Amino acid sequence: MLNTTYKKRIFLSSPHMSGNEINYINEAFETNWIAPLGPNVDAFEKEIANYVGANEAAAVSSGTAAIHLALSLLDVKHGDKVFCSSLTFVASANPIIYLGAEPVFIDSEPYTWNMSPQALERAFEEASYEGNLPKAVIVVNLYGQSAKMDEILAICNHYHVPIIEDAAESLGSTYKGKASGTFGKFGIYSFNGNKIITTSSGGMLISNDVESLRKARFLATQARDPAPHYQHSTIGFNYRMSNVLAGIGRAQLEVLGDRVKARRAIFNRYFQELAYLPGISFMPELASTQSNRWLTALTINEEESGVLVKDLLNILIEENIEARPVWKPLHLQPLFKGVRYYPHSENESISEHLFENGICLPSGSNMTEEDQMRVIHCMKETIRKRIERDVFKNQKI
Ligand SMILES: *Cc1c(COP(=O)(O)O)cnc(C)c1O
Repeated sequence: MLNTTYKKRIFLSSPHMSGNEINYINEAFETNWIAPLGPNVDAFEKEIANYVGANEAAAVSSGTAAIHLALSLLDVKHGDKVFCSSLTFVASANPIIYLGAEPVFIDSEPYTWNMSPQALERAFEEASYEGNLPKAVIVVNLYGQSAKMDEILAICNHYHVPIIEDAAESLGSTYKGKASGTFGKFGIYSFNGNKIITTSSGGMLISNDVESLRKARFLATQARDPAPHYQHSTIGFNYRMSNVLAGIGRAQLEVLGDRVKARRAIFNRYFQELAYLPGISFMPELASTQSNRWLTALTINEEESGVLVKDLLNILIEENIEARPVWKPLHLQPLFKGVRYYPHSENESISEHLFENGICLPSGSNMTEEDQMRVIHCMKETIRKRIERDVFKNQKI
């Protein structure tokens, strides 16, 4: 048994402060703008909208809240259907259930690991045949990589169904020069502690539809009618971001460009050091897109490398290195048992393959080169030993 206590822990993706956050926080304290809402919230919204090139942005308490608001604004309700990527974090789909609607999960395709246009097309054909089109499609940009937006937009536009782009992991990424998150009717970002920039917890809803975002702010502040007494005629939420946290977000946004550069450099180092090993394939980057490479993800072919992802994860844990499997597809989650699922093709489920063989490596922008070399060394040694062992086994036979 290895003693891990003296080995410094290497995190998957930990918060990375710039130092300027404290100035915004101090200013909020000095002016006593502690209550939710205030000048930092207004400024953070404008700055994000400017950065990604959207008309409007509404700062909220989490990425999940932003998805919930987007679905509400599209009038998703009990009995409605919503299509959603299967290979994602559960937060992409939970708000569908909050509203009593029914999720339908769509598989990935191999070039982006994101929503498969051909599976989406089949799902639409069947829904159209049944006379029950979805109210919305939630498209996720996994680990910073944009989905095949042109193809997906063409299909959704054909059926006149709006897209919510879950860009929680892809702030700072671009697709054909345009910011990730700006392709659908709504886009959402997350500022949770592990994301590329963070407000400790928080999210943003963006859209070019100024009127809808006005309504989003209304719903996010308990849906108060304009009256001096507290009057309400619709159900609202308490979903706004606080002025203190928005201050953190403003300082973080100032360094987003640097954070993207750092994560891409980390990806490149992993690639240089590991890509030549047998059985290793890195998550691709689609032509004309730039991923923020939020997490470096790769698959390991067991036969070629001699290594099972499960075993490698345990070896990394013993070295006090935090790595993770790729997201467990939502159609495989006990929570969503019995939910309809459209695989990439009749006999090929890409998300299941990625889940079984995929791994995410520590990718924090504050990780040192020395730390990263520890991860790389551990991976190389594991694969080298397995190959030697297998050669030895074969010789004996
Ligand atoms: C993090 C994340 C969310 C949820 O964001 P929160 O701010 O944690 O609520 C949604 N979708 C994806 C793909 C995420 O990674």
